[in-house]
Amino acid sequence: MQSPTINKAMEILQQLRSISEGTDSISVKLNGIVQMIAEKMGADAAACYVTVEGNRLALFAGYKMNPEAQNKVIFHFGEGLTGEVAADSRTLSVADVWSHPKFVHKEELGEDEYKSYIGVPLIRWKRSIGVLVLQNKKVHEYSAMEIEILETVAMVLSEIVSSEEMNEFKKEFSKSTALNDREKLKGVSLSKGYGLGVSVVHRRRQAVTKIFAEDKEKELHRLEIAFGQMNVDLDKKITEAKLGMGEHVDILDAYRMFASDKGWYKKIANNIQSGLTAEAAVERAYEDMWNRLSGTTDTYLRERLHDLRDVSDRLASYLSGDFGSVKKVDAKDIVVIAQTMGPADLMDYDYTKIRGLIIEDGTPTMHVAIVAKALNIPVVAKIKGIFSEAKTGELVAVDGMDGYVYLHPSMQVQQKFKEKIAQRELLQAKLAELKDLPAKTKDGKHINLYLNVGLSFDLDYIDSTNCDGVGLYRTEIPFMTSDIMPDVNRQVSYYQELMDKAGDKKVIFRSLDVGSDKLLPYWGNVGEENPAIGWRSIRITLDRRAILRKQIKAFLRAAAGKELNVMFPMITNLAEFEDAKETLMIELEKEKRKGDSVPKKVNVGLMIEVPSVIFQLDEILPKADFISIGTNDLAQFIFACDRGNPRLTERYDVLSAPFLNVMREIVEKANKYGVYCSVCGEMASNPIEAMALVGLGYRNLSMSGSSFGRVKGMVRSMNAEEVSDYIHSLLKSGKRTLRPQLISYAHDHGIEIY
Ligand code: PEP
Ligand code: MG
Repeated sequence: MQSPTINKAMEILQQLRSISEGTDSISVKLNGIVQMIAEKMGADAAACYVTVEGNRLALFAGYKMNPEAQNKVIFHFGEGLTGEVAADSRTLSVADVWSHPKFVHKEELGEDEYKSYIGVPLIRWKRSIGVLVLQNKKVHEYSAMEIEILETVAMVLSEIVSSEEMNEFKKEFSKSTALNDREKLKGVSLSKGYGLGVSVVHRRRQAVTKIFAEDKEKELHRLEIAFGQMNVDLDKKITEAKLGMGEHVDILDAYRMFASDKGWYKKIANNIQSGLTAEAAVERAYEDMWNRLSGTTDTYLRERLHDLRDVSDRLASYLSGDFGSVKKVDAKDIVVIAQTMGPADLMDYDYTKIRGLIIEDGTPTMHVAIVAKALNIPVVAKIKGIFSEAKTGELVAVDGMDGYVYLHPSMQVQQKFKEKIAQRELLQAKLAELKDLPAKTKDGKHINLYLNVGLSFDLDYIDSTNCDGVGLYRTEIPFMTSDIMPDVNRQVSYYQELMDKAGDKKVIFRSLDVGSDKLLPYWGNVGEENPAIGWRSIRITLDRRAILRKQIKAFLRAAAGKELNVMFPMITNLAEFEDAKETLMIELEKEKRKGDSVPKKVNVGLMIEVPSVIFQLDEILPKADFISIGTNDLAQFIFACDRGNPRLTERYDVLSAPFLNVMREIVEKANKYGVYCSVCGEMASNPIEAMALVGLGYRNLSMSGSSFGRVKGMVRSMNAEEVSDYIHSLLKSGKRTLRPQLISYAHDHGIEIY
């Protein structure tokens, strides 16, 4: 006996199939389908929205809706109830829309008399590709059974909405999107390096076309075979790949355990017992978990959900015997393009051939990105639309240094990439050679070289570079990559990880530096006119003192028994510094009074980023244990020039007399007061600029891990005294930039500034 839910769903699906098999156009068919669904479900109106241009919803078919609104974009993802359903990929049922805070009234829809609402997402590749909406004139609470029926129907409707015919309609909308004629696409780098190869679009997931089982025993047998085979293959692949040791191996081991989980297997088997095919049962098991966990803000659980998606897709491939793109690759250099990917998916390809990875939905904590990084594969993420636009078999170049992807690169671009790949290999060899040599200039001046870190994979550079320590830990990065504001314990674990990795080396923590271009996902955008000079950085943490106190507590605990260095960003005057420092001292006293173990020494410093403090150095330096210059912000304020405005990038140069004079003034003052002084802005990461800094008297430079080898090479090839004489001779120059002179000087004197 089938349940009433299944009976009703089957009835709708049968009719749906007969409408969709007809010869009418897709538009006529879908209008017929939504009408039929409305009638069967007792709704007064219905609509089918389709996702266009990645995140907009066009009304494609409607019943008892204003026909004029059809084929027009009505909602953005996140806008109104329908936008909310699409953005969250979750069903939303509302008894009376007029009292719902998210409801947005769209006059053009002609839905004034409708009260109740249910929106069900049409999902494919984990994304909402549309929304099915039903409405009633009366206030009506949709039952769990109705919801289940509609969700089952939505699975089949998704197939129709992703058909070829439908793509034509979507293309009309996409004509205006930039992706069509862009060759160079900007994304976000998740793993550094350059790669060139033939694209392979990673499509594993297949649609579930048959939902109800005809023979349960047969389905259970299919499941048993597929499950067993999948696990045998997975074990073999992961064992055979020579992966060394590290977090990536732990990730793959966890995945392997997940794939062989008995509880998961049982859930699928139970779903088969209730009447579903093996494929639909796998999907249903995933959906159950998704419904329970997708609302969680816990990053760990979200990652688990991600793993379950991947392992479900893998099992579905074994059930159908169709492995999508995976088996059809014969090029020797490939670039894999995926919407999303599981960590073990890389092992399905010959990973030694993978020259690059592009993941549309990638995030830095994503497991596949961590595995790819360990395998030295450059990864670029967040290029909207690339997955649906790209085709297998085309040449693609991946620039994991700056986060660009080139589709069909020209001969010149290809040539450039080949050079860059060769250069990088050379540099890496050189870095390895330099690792154990001191950062000493030719005339014997030791320069301390530190790292700037933020993401946890930056921590690997601490060992690989043999640096003197961490000169800037951008604590906002873990805040930015977290789904909720990390509490004290969570923060302690982040900071502790760094302290442990650093061992006896110096570590400088910077207090939370958010606002301006660094926004936290869980804080609304304040919407300021001039965010760079607005409520940001120390201004926020002084006003929201509890955040600062918690962070300081976490610093103190993570550095218990060791030396703690904390600096405050964007300090504008002495009063602000003293205020922040006092908060730290109070927290330190509190910890001591509680009898907790505290750092054996605490040094408090500030960043020099706002010009006003330079005019107060005589008062500030006696009160500070150290200073560090954030040349990125300092240059933006000295030149009154937005650091993120591409129109202005080359207009002013830090290698010019005004800026170099400011830098000289700061280092001389710091030396006068005997205060440790370093540079942690980008200037220290660029060899020619770092050369100028050493010439001005800087002995502490903090830079990105990827620049370390180049800067060290530069230091070892320069004579500090000679460069000092030369740079001081330029400080009265009226030129816009002194870069050409400094580059010629470096060439003439054999200084390595690659
Ligand atoms: C700077 O401004 O130079 C700096 C190091 O800080 P951030 O780039 O994080 O603003
Ligand atoms: Mg800054």
